[in-house]
Order: sequence, then structure tokens, then C-alpha cells
Amino acid sequence: MQIKLKKYQIKKTPAVIAAIFALALMIKGANLFTAQPNGTDGYSPDAAAKSIYLSLEEYEVKNGNLTENGNKMNNQKEKNSNIENNGTSFADCAFVRVLDAQSGEIKEEDIEYYTLCALLAEMPQSYETQALMAQAVACRTYACRNIFYTKHDNADVCTDYKCCQSYREADGIKTDISKALFAVNATKGIIATYENEPILAAYHASSYKKTKSCDEVWGGRKDYLVSVYAPESKEDCAYTVTVSFDKTNEILMKKGKKEIEFITADDGLCAGAKCEDGFLDCKTLKNMFSLRSDAFEVEKTDIGYDFTCYGYGHGVGMSQKGANLLAKQGFDYCEILKYYYSGIKFDFII
Ligand SMILES: [Zn+2]
Repeated sequence: MQIKLKKYQIKKTPAVIAAIFALALMIKGANLFTAQPNGTDGYSPDAAAKSIYLSLEEYEVKNGNLTENGNKMNNQKEKNSNIENNGTSFADCAFVRVLDAQSGEIKEEDIEYYTLCALLAEMPQSYETQALMAQAVACRTYACRNIFYTKHDNADVCTDYKCCQSYREADGIKTDISKALFAVNATKGIIATYENEPILAAYHASSYKKTKSCDEVWGGRKDYLVSVYAPESKEDCAYTVTVSFDKTNEILMKKGKKEIEFITADDGLCAGAKCEDGFLDCKTLKNMFSLRSDAFEVEKTDIGYDFTCYGYGHGVGMSQKGANLLAKQGFDYCEILKYYYSGIKFDFII
């Protein structure tokens, strides 16, 4: 069975119209609808089953021959000067040194195999094929950037999602991973770049109203990590958690507060809280109550407070839930990536 994506048949809800408008503004002059870097015919279970066989065999051969491979790069300085001098040499990204965050072991892996393992851990396979392909490019690009700007001593990436990207070993996996394999194979070697560098391909679970810019969250402007309209509805990204009165008191005591009074804005969202010695903003409240987002509503119940949070994660770069919604509306993976990472180009590793 072939799944064909109906391109550009988008339901014209106000949210979608705003998304199209934002997209049009952002890509003004960009060659969004020209040739894509790879053929993307959509997911075919038959083709994917064939590619599982070929790919795993290929990975085995490559992993077996890693020590003899001339492309292996150990000199970090040489790598950095390489990209500065030539601008477009990404061959160094063909292999990635992966630090197992639990065992401390470092393995060198084919970038495609690593991308598959990261993709399996980072996005559910129930998501649309084009969203999975966008995520595959983001995972591959993230690793490539770390090869040039590593934060680990003898490794390029680790398997801790709080530090780098999550990782699930694909070899020997018992569940059906054909859709993820298809996404990796169909985007093989493709990375997102900006000014001839792999981008910082930040992504998060979901956003409400807008994604966040890099400088808003981490400081330091990146022209491709700017805030864009989020296609998620409130319901798409809502998550409610209850904090009991006892727990609330414990949290307040830790912060040296006796009581707080939540303030509600016109749109129903919490706008902060008054306390005896001043005001707590939503970011502070998010951290205090370990909430998923600083966009939330608060409701007092008989047992405590219900916090309904909208969006999940740091909010910078690609929203995975948003990518899935855009894919459902007919965006292909290049369009999705260009939507979230403004002004990017695509390059091949080799
Ligand atoms: Zn790390």
C-alpha cells in the first residue's frame, strides 16, 4: 500500500491561515517548492521491509570495518578548520562517537545508524512519515553539529536526552521499526545547514501559540532559531497535573514563602503569582512546581491545584507535535524543517 500525501490541501481554519501567512513571510524568496534533496515518495511498507534487510546488513559491514575506515576523524581542530576553510565539507560527519551515558562506553557508529537509534527514541513511529523524516534530518544534523562543536571529551554525542539526544539501540530490536528506517533511508546523508554549518537542530515535544527564540531561552541569537507561529491547538498540547495542598505548602516552604495568589490573564492563562514579598513570574512558577510549560492555567480543587500546561519542552526550534500536524496538512519534511528553522539550506554529508 502506498501512502500518498495530498499536498497543499489544507483546511482553512483561522489557525492554518495564520500558519500559511507566517510561513509565506518567512520563506519569502526561499526556494521552498523547488527540487528536494532526495526523492520522497512516501512510506511504502514493502520497500521499507526490503530496506530493513539491506540496511542492517550494510550497518553490520560498516561497523565491522570501522577501524579501517579512512574517513574516521580524530582531530577536532582539523575538523573545525576544515569547515571554516571549505565551508561545505561535511564528510567528517559520516561517523559519530557515541558515549553511552549509563555504561560510559564509547562506540563509533555510522551516522545513519546513530540517526535511526536517535529517531526511535525521540519520536513515536505513529507520527506521520514526513514528520519522522524531518525528525531524522534534525537528529542527524544535531549529531553533525556536535562533531564540529563537541561538548564531550572523547565522544561527539551521548545518549542522555537531557544533554544530547535520546538513543534506543536499533540492532536486535523486536518491534517493527520499518517506518523509522524508511525515514532515515529516505533522507540519507541530508543535514540542515545555515551559513555552511550544521544548524543547532533544537526540537521539543510541543508548543502553544508560538515557538521560542534561542535568545529568549538560552541567550545568544541564532537567525534560524526564531519564534514562529505554532500550529498546535490548545487541546493538541494540553497536559494536566494535580499538585496537592500539602505538596504546594512543601514547595512554598522550600522557597521561603508562606502563601501565593495566582493571577489569571484575560486569556485564562496564569500571568504569575503574588506573594508576601513581591511577584513570581510564570517561568519561576514552572520551575517551582516542575510544570511542563510556563503557559498554564490553574484551577483550585478540593485536594489541591490543577495545572493545565500548554506545550512541553524548551520551546526552541521544531515542535514535534507541530511537525506532525504540518505533515497531516501536506507539508513535506523539507517544508516542515524550513518552517521551524528559518532560512536554512540542505546539504549532503558525503
Ligand atoms: Zn551529551
